Amino acid sequence: MRTIGVIGGMSWESTAVYYRRLNEEVRAALGAFHSAKLVLYSVDFQEIERMQMAGDWLTAGDLLAATACALEAAGADFLILATNTMHKVASTIERRAGIPLLHIVDATGAALRAAGFTRVGLLGTRFVMEDGFYAERLQARYGVDVIVPDAAARAFVHRVIYDELCLGILREDSRAHYRRVIADLVAQGAQAVVLGCTEIPMLIGADDARVPLFDTTDIHVRAAIAKALE
Ligand code: GLU
Repeated sequence: MRTIGVIGGMSWESTAVYYRRLNEEVRAALGAFHSAKLVLYSVDFQEIERMQMAGDWLTAGDLLAATACALEAAGADFLILATNTMHKVASTIERRAGIPLLHIVDATGAALRAAGFTRVGLLGTRFVMEDGFYAERLQARYGVDVIVPDAAARAFVHRVIYDELCLGILREDSRAHYRRVIADLVAQGAQAVVLGCTEIPMLIGADDARVPLFDTTDIHVRAAIAKALE
């Protein structure tokens, strides 16, 4: 089994889910007392969040690249970055680290393609929904067109991620509002909806939509374990 280097803490609420799910997948595959070989580097999300809000992606990229190198030195064979948003600086990490990064958009794109979807809704932080790096990669590499919510709904989805989900707060009214946002995406032709934020699956599940939901945390975990056990 290969050792996975996990760049986590963004937020730790979802990294805790990654840790549990990575181990569950290995147990499901190998049985008995088997568990995932991994090294976790959990950052202080306050520092990252400040850089995000200031648009200082260069410093954020440097910080995460240094983290990746530390994981490599600690024995990781490949890396996962346990957040969708920070894949905005994935190329910096890939350039500096001597081991491969299993990109969350590639895992998600492969899952969408396997399921035959070509037009999907996307929920995430405003960086994921608006900055292009996510939708462009899905389109260019997997032929998947992306629909995002309107400006007001994007602001709402983004706010709930930072003010509630990253702090471990789950609110019924926010869930209801997310359901309406998802229904709007479906009305616009989304065949499926990508939960492109690793905390959203804490709030939203299959029962909240009439179309399939793609949980990027779960997809990323499965892809990582498949690669670790290759
Ligand atoms: N974990 C979230 C994501 O998947 C948002 C927190 C962050 O900005 O990293 O995008």
